[in-house]
Amino acid sequence: MRRDVDVAIVGGGQAGLVTAYHLRRLGIEHVVLDEQREPGGAWQATWPSLRLFSPAAYSSLHGWPMPPHPDTFPPVDHVIAYLRAYEEHYDLAVERPVTVRDVRAAPDGLTVVTDRGDVRARHVVSATGTWSAPFVPLVEGQASFAGRQLHSAHYRGPADFAGQRVAVVGGGNSGVQITADLLGTAERVSLVSARRLRFLPDDVDGRHLFDRATARQHAVDPETMEAEFVGNIVALPRVREARAQGALRVRAMFDRIVPDGAVIGRDLLELDAIIWCTGYRPALRHLRSLRLRTSDGHPEVVDNRAVRDPRVSFVGYGDWTGPASATLIGVGRTAKRLAAQLSQELGTAA
Ligand SMILES: Cc1cc2nc3c(=O)[nH]c(=O)nc-3n(C[C@H](O)[C@H](O)[C@H](O)COP(=O)(O)OP(=O)(O)OC[C@H]3O[C@@H](n4cnc5c(N)ncnc54)[C@H](O)[C@@H]3O)c2cc1C
Repeated sequence: MRRDVDVAIVGGGQAGLVTAYHLRRLGIEHVVLDEQREPGGAWQATWPSLRLFSPAAYSSLHGWPMPPHPDTFPPVDHVIAYLRAYEEHYDLAVERPVTVRDVRAAPDGLTVVTDRGDVRARHVVSATGTWSAPFVPLVEGQASFAGRQLHSAHYRGPADFAGQRVAVVGGGNSGVQITADLLGTAERVSLVSARRLRFLPDDVDGRHLFDRATARQHAVDPETMEAEFVGNIVALPRVREARAQGALRVRAMFDRIVPDGAVIGRDLLELDAIIWCTGYRPALRHLRSLRLRTSDGHPEVVDNRAVRDPRVSFVGYGDWTGPASATLIGVGRTAKRLAAQLSQELGTAA
């Protein structure tokens, strides 16, 4: 593994790979440090029935398109195969498995502390995503629940819930997709949400969201594709089926959790399991020594650079790093812009 580089990229999911692609094009020396054993980033940890919300042509990283898939909305193993092929095609400098434990500031650079020794870098790009930092809200009585609780990040399919009474909490895309996935296997599935479901029109999917985000970018509208995607449900075929069966009727959020279920108003909803589909936070533990966090839950950034230490930048994560930057098609824009900046600063402009 290289011990002295211009740029160390932490994370080898789609954000890390497309950043490496742009740095490579500009001749900037770099290494990608990824803690997974295999390529594919967080996609390796999703449930098998997960489908992309856009066709392959709208799910490509810069440079090399995702091959088409016979189904309109490709399954997750197609995404993983694509990321592996992308990495190999460009012979990207990915080291794995390497876990970055810390990043320390020194006057003449940054020390990236890993489980395989230190790497010195002039600049660190953090591309660690959100999937390893699932968020679960606090609900009274939660610890007393006798059944199983898990976050959607750890959901692996319906088989584990055969014959069980399950509450799926969260009225976004994960919540409705997992509810649909459990139908026919679980004894009962209750979709619980603090707000009403908001479906996008049935003929609108990730393609249209991306086009709208692109149009808005020019108008400097703060709303992004992610904001729309998070707040609105893409009516994928299985979701439509579940809705037609009446399985997506929402129950109000729990007032409290008790050992054998949850109380909603005057009702006791008896439960064997609760699946929290309540979102994620940026996975930034490796940067804690730099004390970059602000009260928003993520570092203050200007042009993707940490205000408190501009030698650290961020790609992926969510709209705070660029429009649609937590999507396959959107992340390349952020990566390209950052690579151009670094090329100027590090003196390697082609
Ligand atoms: C349910 C769901 C459905 C989605 N569907 C779509 C979709 O249809 N289309 C779309 O475009 N997007 C979709 N997304 C969003 C998005 O594409 C993913 O969140 C994507 O995985 C983000 O990629 P990333 O590279 O930023 O992060 P990740 O894929 O999480 O990659 C980060 C990598 O960094 C590694 N890492 C983390 N910490 C460290 C460390 N300290 N040291 C070393 N390595 C580390 C991780 O192990 C991982 O390999 C979906 C998201 C969710 C939750």
